[in-house]
Amino acid sequence: MAVSFFSTASFHSLLFHISKQSIFSLSDPRLSTISYLCFSQAASCSTSSTTRSSSSSRFRTHTFFSTGVQVQRKHEFSHGAVAAVAMAGGMDVSHYGGEETGGMMGRCSHRPEMLSKVAYIPPSWASHLQLVPSHFFSLGQFPTPIHQWHLPGLPDGTEVYVKRDDLTGMQLSGNKVRKLEFLLADAKEQGADCVITIGGIQSNHCRATAVAARYIGLDSYLILRTNRTEVEDDPGLTGNLLVERMVGAHVSLVSKEEYVKYGSVMLGNLLADKLKSQGRKPYVIPVGGSDSLGTWGYIEFVRELKTQLQEGRTSGVTHFDDIVMACGSGGTTAGLSLAAHLSKLDAQVHAYAVCDSEEYFYDYTQGLIDGLIGGVSSREIVRIVNAKGLGYAMSTSAELNLVKDVAESTGIILDPVYSGKALNGMLKDMAENPTKWEGKKVLFVHTGGLLGMYEKVVQLQPLVGKWERLRIPEFAMQPDDTKG
Ligand SMILES: *Cc1c(COP(=O)(O)O)cnc(C)c1O
Repeated sequence: MAVSFFSTASFHSLLFHISKQSIFSLSDPRLSTISYLCFSQAASCSTSSTTRSSSSSRFRTHTFFSTGVQVQRKHEFSHGAVAAVAMAGGMDVSHYGGEETGGMMGRCSHRPEMLSKVAYIPPSWASHLQLVPSHFFSLGQFPTPIHQWHLPGLPDGTEVYVKRDDLTGMQLSGNKVRKLEFLLADAKEQGADCVITIGGIQSNHCRATAVAARYIGLDSYLILRTNRTEVEDDPGLTGNLLVERMVGAHVSLVSKEEYVKYGSVMLGNLLADKLKSQGRKPYVIPVGGSDSLGTWGYIEFVRELKTQLQEGRTSGVTHFDDIVMACGSGGTTAGLSLAAHLSKLDAQVHAYAVCDSEEYFYDYTQGLIDGLIGGVSSREIVRIVNAKGLGYAMSTSAELNLVKDVAESTGIILDPVYSGKALNGMLKDMAENPTKWEGKKVLFVHTGGLLGMYEKVVQLQPLVGKWERLRIPEFAMQPDDTKG
């Protein structure tokens, strides 16, 4: 068994290459000395132990990695515990980041290589949860930046900051990437050769799924809900559809009536059965990627945020009083509010619902929390507020005007379906109850969705101006750039 070890003080990291068939343990409270035991997976224990000195005494690292089926932890780690285990076969890299102090191999300061599949270790405050994912794919650009957002008309002393989850990627932009990192790793673990998912005709989730699946070599089948009048026609290339169809996603259209009648689960299973009968191995991802596994994406988000706060990468803010986001299928809300609670972030989480009702989302997020045995009531950890306006994906001109004004005054483009409505809801709340928000430091999570704006061009057209035909006077000089 080949073991090589090195430590880089700059990254405060440890890397071990061990054989693929091993469970590896590292245990030493101070890490001035490391001892380890290696077991063969076949349980015929070949035991060896060695001590090596480490240049870093900051770590407490006690982790076991196996070939992916099991990840065990023996000791609670408390300080920037950082370890990475690279399987000698070069197939798999395991890592986790220490959220307490300066963990550098986690989501934040040092991400695994893009598209690598990595063993996952949860933050210590979430390690008691159920359904801890064994792996994730590194797909997104993390950590996403946080900066102040000078929105017009805020209550006295209220400061709003924005966490740019719209910058998780280009084709992959938005909040769904965080969930897909876990969901697609599971799809691969289960030997899938394609994924199925379902959503509205401009679903950001379906687009992100199509791109991410293609990145890692899986085909994608998207069930998209549209109007009865359009369900028989080519869906075109507007917005998210352009990206989906460019990356070769198979699009199946259903009408809104069919969607309501049969439900997303049955429609997904229907397509799955059809593909199975053709010899395919589909993996079905639920609407919005919002199942208990996908929820881990926003548990990780909170670990990332805490690290950014500790590292002082939050525009000088050390604590946020409120966190605001849009709620569409509920996974983001469930993960973020559960993790904020477990990690004692001490921030009020507000989720502005863009469809269904408050009751629906309290119950839905409760189901996700219960799936992880989170042991807390959704009503205690998040405030869900109705912000759906005319209905899902339908925009009032006031909402679009707000999105346009905010873009024009701050450069940040929200989306019409989610973050635009969430901001509208938050600002309405601030206008109606200014004292509740005065003096607060508020973090708004920009969950992405720019491509959905393309569907609103007709409605947006009258709101944008500032164009003219450049008039070139008669006496203009000779052309000075013949190449251009
Ligand atoms: C899906 C989505 C949301 C909502 O997240 P959920 O986890 O589905 O509640 C918010 N914003 C954008 C841009 C989205 O695409």
